[in-house]
Amino acid sequence: MELLKRRICDSGRAIGNDILKVDSFLNHQLDVQLFQEIGKEFQRRFRTERITKILTVEASGIGVACITAQYFNNVPVVFAKKSTAKNLNAEVYESNVYSFTKGAHYIIRVDKKYLKAEDNVLIIDDFLANGKAVLGLLDLCRQAGAHAVGVGIVIEKSFQEGRGAVLKENIRLESLARIKSLKEGKIIFMD
Ligand code: 5GP
Repeated sequence: MELLKRRICDSGRAIGNDILKVDSFLNHQLDVQLFQEIGKEFQRRFRTERITKILTVEASGIGVACITAQYFNNVPVVFAKKSTAKNLNAEVYESNVYSFTKGAHYIIRVDKKYLKAEDNVLIIDDFLANGKAVLGLLDLCRQAGAHAVGVGIVIEKSFQEGRGAVLKENIRLESLARIKSLKEGKIIFMD
C-alpha cells in the first residue's frame, strides 16, 4: 500500500536493527484518515469473505480494527485483554503470548460470550514481528471453534519469523507494508 509506505518513510524511525517506531500515526497519535485508507484496503483484500467479527489485541490494534470494521458492515470488534480485570467474566478463553517488544510473557483473554463457533473472524493487528500475538489470537479462535478467515497486518517486519509462523497455520495473511530490513536506521521494503 503505497500511501502507507510513504508515511512510514516520512514519519517512521528505526530503533536498532529490529524496532520501527511509528508513534506519530499508528501507535500513540493516530492518523484517522490514514486508518480509513487502511480499512478500505483490508476490505478490498478480504471482500469476498463473509466476516462476522474482527478480533485484535489491546491496545494498539484497537484503533485500526474499529475503523476497519466500518468497511465490513460495522461488524463487532473484539479485543483480547491483557489484564485480569475484576469485571472480566470467569468464562474466558485464554492464551499465553510472548511479547517481543517487552521481552515477557502475558496472558490474553476473551470472554466466551464474544467469540462463538459460528463466527468468521478477521484478525487485525498493527505489527507482525515473530507472530506470537497472532498465534495467540488464532488459539482463542480455535478454542471457541470459530473460523479464522485471515490475518490483516498493517506493518509486517518480514525479516522476523511471524510470516512463516502464520502461514504454517494455513491462514491467509495480508500485510499492507512489508519491511525487509531496518539495518543502520534505513527502512527497506520488500517491494
Ligand atoms: P509479535 O507477536 O508478532 O512478535 O509482535 C507483534 C506485537 O508486538 C504487535 O502487536 C506490536 O504491538 C508489537 N511490535 C512488534 N514489533 C514492533 C515494532 O517494530 N514497533 C512497534 N511499534 N511495535 C511492535
